[in-house]
Amino acid sequence: MPTKHYMTTFDQMGLIEPILKALNEEGYTTPTPIQAQAIPHLLQGRDLLGCAQTGTGKTAAFSIPILQRMHADKQSGQMKRGIKTLILTPTRELAIQIEESLRAYGRHLGLKHLVIFGGVSQHHQVLALQKGVDILVATPGRLLDLIQQRFITLNDIGTFVLDEADRMLDMGFVHDVKKVIVRLPAKRQTLFFSATMPEDIQALANSILTHPIKVEVTPAATTAETIRQSLFMVEKDNKRNLLVHLLKDTSINSALIFTRTKHGADRVAKDLLKVGVEAQAIHGNKSQNARQNALKNFKDGATRVLVATDIAARGIDIDELSHVINFELPNVPETYVHRIGRTGRAGFSGIAYSFCDAEETTYLRDIQKLIGKAIPLEDGHPWHAPNMKPLPPPPMGGRSSFQPRSNGNGNNRNSNTSRPSNNGNRGSFGNSQKSWGNNRHSMN
Ligand code: AMP
Repeated sequence: MPTKHYMTTFDQMGLIEPILKALNEEGYTTPTPIQAQAIPHLLQGRDLLGCAQTGTGKTAAFSIPILQRMHADKQSGQMKRGIKTLILTPTRELAIQIEESLRAYGRHLGLKHLVIFGGVSQHHQVLALQKGVDILVATPGRLLDLIQQRFITLNDIGTFVLDEADRMLDMGFVHDVKKVIVRLPAKRQTLFFSATMPEDIQALANSILTHPIKVEVTPAATTAETIRQSLFMVEKDNKRNLLVHLLKDTSINSALIFTRTKHGADRVAKDLLKVGVEAQAIHGNKSQNARQNALKNFKDGATRVLVATDIAARGIDIDELSHVINFELPNVPETYVHRIGRTGRAGFSGIAYSFCDAEETTYLRDIQKLIGKAIPLEDGHPWHAPNMKPLPPPPMGGRSSFQPRSNGNGNNRNSNTSRPSNNGNRGSFGNSQKSWGNNRHSMN
């Protein structure tokens, strides 16, 4: 097999000047692995099957070629009148972030983009649609609503992006997604992204893609190399005390705390406020405005701690998030990878703490099986439950889409060390120069 070589600069990809200028203004110097692998093919109109989660630079990987191709059509007078690109994504937060990215990379192009999502009045969205839209970013429910009311037609769509397909199915959007797909023109470019590729996702991809190029960036490699993970065995009733104890560490600039339930998120935020830690909760029961506010406060550093449920946190994109704390372990092991992937992003290093009580040891075992290693145990704290032992990890064997790598010392098994070493931290936290090196394909 010949070694694969990927282009290493944006200049070499044949990107047009206004886009190169925008990327420069964003401070992007080097394409991420998914960008290097996908952009040249997407510029040629190929379909794509991308196995990648947020944090890999996938938004730019699809946005940049879409913008460039549409700009070319516009210049040559071949642009259709209706909506020409549809980007479908599961959550409002993600939708908003994608539109922000389009705005950033396309700021010198003059294409019109719009983001629509439910939970807010449709009035302004309809007004904006009536002025004409080139690229629409949408969540499925609101999109179908507006299609049914005839404010949107998909007849002119030339490019369709299905983002976070696995999460879309998890959230029960499968029928909505299918309803959208049948309305799309058969002749189109399709880009399909999912963090995991179980069979149902693969089947959906096969049904809508034509000879796609396949790009896979491996989340477990990211977790292994840029995120320092620690496990805390703790009695359920002591979790709150442990959390307060850990948050005394002032090097924790920003912590995203996960709970399984909305009620749990509220309770943790309330408990923290009681002891003087600035915390806010974010979950599906909160209004869109309350969620946006909480997120903004967190990003600005006004609140140090954000407590979230998985769905609410999906798509939260904060480059310099220092800590993720799993107050409760997720019952779906892939969710662990998604959660801790909120930190250690864009080449920065991050820290992920996970609390495990007696009822959660099977979740822990499943997680360790998926990531292919034992999470190093942290026992040097006052709330350590010595009688509670993690179940031994079953034989190595993550899913094919998660390809764990050795941490360099040839031993990833539970060493019971009180502090894991910071092996392989490529990016350095707080350093404004982002580095990308967490892919198994070498970029050099
Ligand atoms: P995404 O995976 O699309 O959520 O992107 C993760 C983060 O990486 C976002 O904050 C992007 O702004 C940032 N990013 C994407 N591409 C690059 C790049 N080539 N260089 C530096 N940062 C990037």
